[in-house]
Amino acid sequence: MVAALVDLFFPKVCYGCNDMLTDHEAFMCTSCRHELPVTNFHFNQDNSVAKIFYGRSRIETATSLLRFQKKGIVQHLLHNLKYRGHEDIGVFLGQWLGEELKTIPSYKSVEIVIPVPLHPKKLKKRGYNQVAKFAMELAKSLGADYADDVLLKQTNTSSQVYKNRLERWTNPKEQFIVQNSHKITHKHSLLVDDIITTGATLEACVNVLNSEENHKISIASMAFTS
Ligand SMILES: [Zn+2]
Repeated sequence: MVAALVDLFFPKVCYGCNDMLTDHEAFMCTSCRHELPVTNFHFNQDNSVAKIFYGRSRIETATSLLRFQKKGIVQHLLHNLKYRGHEDIGVFLGQWLGEELKTIPSYKSVEIVIPVPLHPKKLKKRGYNQVAKFAMELAKSLGADYADDVLLKQTNTSSQVYKNRLERWTNPKEQFIVQNSHKITHKHSLLVDDIITTGATLEACVNVLNSEENHKISIASMAFTS
């Protein structure tokens, strides 16, 4: 009764096309769901996302749920998630990918899920990390812990200025540090981000996490742009 009243005043609409959703639909209407460009990368170890990291970072496996296209439905979704406060898009995508990953042996061993952090200033301004809900849902599906206090982002000090151009390019202005490292020692963790483009951010995260002893890392993101 209460739920019906809520629906009356705040009708649930599709994140893809803004049409009203039926009782059997959540987040997105059936036709928009069918239009989403899924990668199915996780069903193949040697996929395009994993290949980004080969030879650069030591990882177990990597995947992205969707293919990102400019002006496409995925861009629309991620824009709403990142800039319009629609955090439940992260829940939707996390539940979806989580259902698939928990059937795959290489992801079943994941024990801890770590979101790529925002810089504290940015987090304060936005009010939320757009990756958090997605990561929490993945952790739930995989029976893993969620930890947002292991990886931290900080601004580089001025010593960076004196580095040569190549070093500056490979060392992004903002760097990551590890704290509470006991949480990941001897564990398999899943590092989670929204979009993978060049992989530079994730590479920086993986390299700092890999400095921990006997630690395995896999990667999952909402979208991938080639
Ligand atoms: Zn729709």
